[in-house]
Amino acid sequence: MANPLSAFSVLGNHSTIQTLVAAAGNGRFPHALLLEGPRGSGKKTLARYLAAALLCQGENPPCGVCNSCHKAAGDFHPDIVFYGLEESGARSFHIDQIRQLKLSAYVLPNESPYKVFILCGAQNMTVQAQNALLKLVEEPPATCVFLLLCENRQALLPTILSRVQTVQMEPLSSREIENALKERCPQVSPQAIAQAARGAQGWLGAALELLEAGEENIQAKSRQLLVMAARESEFTLAAALTPWEKDRESFLALLETMKEQIGRALTGREENLAEFSPLQLARMADIIEKTTCQAAQNGNLTLLTAVLCSRLKSAVGGG
Ligand SMILES: [Zn+2]
Repeated sequence: MANPLSAFSVLGNHSTIQTLVAAAGNGRFPHALLLEGPRGSGKKTLARYLAAALLCQGENPPCGVCNSCHKAAGDFHPDIVFYGLEESGARSFHIDQIRQLKLSAYVLPNESPYKVFILCGAQNMTVQAQNALLKLVEEPPATCVFLLLCENRQALLPTILSRVQTVQMEPLSSREIENALKERCPQVSPQAIAQAARGAQGWLGAALELLEAGEENIQAKSRQLLVMAARESEFTLAAALTPWEKDRESFLALLETMKEQIGRALTGREENLAEFSPLQLARMADIIEKTTCQAAQNGNLTLLTAVLCSRLKSAVGGG
């Protein structure tokens, strides 16, 4: 059974989280909290976790199973309100949104003791927006909690900063990131995971973005190579496959991607391969399957990539 808490799984910041969750339990949670950290550092994940803990009706908040946690995990809790989700440009978080927030802040919570307002990208607030927010954090309604998520606190007015308690997001070790990635993306090769973990500088969200970019990259490469089989010489195709002679896992991942794309092409869902006939596609799928078996059994990679080229060329040659 899936762990009901996995929707809120947070890594790092252990002692801060403990302190804040305890504060939530005895009614001493700060009225305004600033979570500061770079993009991909887990600010939003932590904010959702804290909001769930604050509104949880169970024994060990966030229990993950009570009605309130269920709604928080699904992002449809009426007393957890997000602002600034779509904004990304500098100073694109306008006063209108704070005015809206203000109206909502003075209305009692729907079903919980508190209303939690999560302000994403707080560094993008205009000065007017910050001034409007200031009045609210100076004298907040007793039922309101504000969580400001910010990449750089210097972007906020000193008057705001003096009213909020700051939590710095703590980076994770490469090992922690690797383990988290393995658990979340079991289908990804260990090499790709290690590479993403190294490039992420301690931030899990950044590592996931790197993995996704790598996945898009392999999709594009695979398509390109398959199309090359029809349009280019065997020599050019072999040259394009050279990078895969060195790393078995990557080569297997490439073959897997090719197989998936051919499968989609056979059911008309892969436009880029529309130039191949069903017979050609079936032959190519067969060749890739054979090559996969040989690569998985430690076949020589230089030889296998060369054989793959010539087999693909002959598969598309015969119409
Ligand atoms: Zn709960």
